[in-house]
Amino acid sequence: MRAQTVEHTLVDGVDVVGSLSPSRASDFMTCPLLYRFRVVDRLPQESTPDAVRGTLVHAVLEDLFDAPAAQRTLEHARSLVGPAWDRLREADPELTALFTDGTALAEWLESAGALLGSYFALEDPRRLEPADREKYVETVVDGGLLLRGYVDRVDVAPTGEVRVVDYKTGRAPREVFEAKAMFQMKFYALVMWRTTGTVPTLLQLMYLGNEEILRYSPDEHDLVATERKLRALWAAIERAATTGEWRARKSALCGWCDHKELCPEWGGTPPPLPERDALPVEPAVHSPAESPADAD
Ligand code: SF4
Repeated sequence: MRAQTVEHTLVDGVDVVGSLSPSRASDFMTCPLLYRFRVVDRLPQESTPDAVRGTLVHAVLEDLFDAPAAQRTLEHARSLVGPAWDRLREADPELTALFTDGTALAEWLESAGALLGSYFALEDPRRLEPADREKYVETVVDGGLLLRGYVDRVDVAPTGEVRVVDYKTGRAPREVFEAKAMFQMKFYALVMWRTTGTVPTLLQLMYLGNEEILRYSPDEHDLVATERKLRALWAAIERAATTGEWRARKSALCGWCDHKELCPEWGGTPPPLPERDALPVEPAVHSPAESPADAD
């Protein structure tokens, strides 16, 4: 099996040994082989109507706050769906092929409008003035691990409390998986704490699929534990990279995996590891997650 070294990159003069986003951390925790397929082999992920609808709804919720507060109505939000879809299609013309005909497309656009209705059932955007939307955050923790990602929205109260908000177009997880879902938010809170010195007051996951909100108030102890967990995770990734052993972990989440035909757990054979010497420092990409595998 071909072993890889780990690439070192200088970021603002700091020696960075690797990077993690919440999605890729989740991939490795779900299944190391899935992480390998996505980060090492860089196999493309198939666009699905659900995933693209997630991107579309996120774009509309970002655009919505461009309007003056009084104009942020559901009607206005729904009027933004068409232009946001036009932008997505211009950026990736192949998305149109996801729909067999105009009726399928119209139903899909309508389902995006329905999710916006769910958003308005959860909060009134006329009463909010976000401090940031689609905010890129990054920090390098001890040991040279770069943590980065995009936060959907940051609200700052006049009294200084910070609320970090993430939209999900799927349904809220069952109670037993709530902590896993909140891990993504603790990741963001850790990065924000390390960069600003302030622990966010509230982490809020908004599930539009079933109109539910998950909230959590982190403290420093939580975020120190999150950093420890991420460093341990990165050490496990480095071990897999240097030994070439990326273990497949079969679970119910295989149903959302694009690479089942290459997976030994499903009778497939992974491709040879690429002729690259180093584990790449992955680029930060914002892709709103839809599968449970991505949901944390
Ligand atoms: S099919 Fe399942 S076990 Fe195989 S790579 Fe995908 S997530 Fe891992």
